[in-house]
Amino acid sequence: MAAPPSVAIYPGSFDPITNGHLDLISRASRMVDLLVVAVLRNQSKHPLFSVEERREMIHEATGGFSNVEVTSFEGLLVDFAASRGASMILRGIRAVSDYELEWQMALMNRRLRPEIETVFLTAGEEYSFISSNLVKEVASLGGSVTGIVPLSVEARLQRKFAARAV
Ligand code: ADP
Repeated sequence: MAAPPSVAIYPGSFDPITNGHLDLISRASRMVDLLVVAVLRNQSKHPLFSVEERREMIHEATGGFSNVEVTSFEGLLVDFAASRGASMILRGIRAVSDYELEWQMALMNRRLRPEIETVFLTAGEEYSFISSNLVKEVASLGGSVTGIVPLSVEARLQRKFAARAV
């Protein structure tokens, strides 16, 4: 009997997607049959981009991967993962500072659904300083984010901040 397809969920805010996220997606897409990039619908955060805009940007940036799907979810991550038949949750570690919160979340998620494993990948060192928050801050002040985010994200950031300036 054939083994069931391996499915991993890569959850996050992706506000916006960066080349650090993309590096992780590229590594993970080689490890599983299907990688579901899932934008969290979180009422308590105040994102720059709407969930739909974030999904569009991820979609544009991941078009070259045949086994990557883009979606959004709300509620408990492990319940969403189970509903998609996923056995893995993928998270990224940039530096030691990411570790504590990621470790807490991984243990809580294991408690909730022990059959789902959290897998951590490290981004390439050239991406390890990149965060969506830093990208937004630099772009809002007119700094260049070329090479740090996909081209389409760069253009959208410029439009967003130009619209805010008027
Ligand atoms: P969240 O709001 O859940 O932290 P993010 O969109 O910021 O979502 O990030 C999603 C995941 O990707 C997190 O596990 C984060 O640590 C990881 N990540 C973000 N940027 C990078 C990067 N440059 N290198 C490696 N992992 C990253």
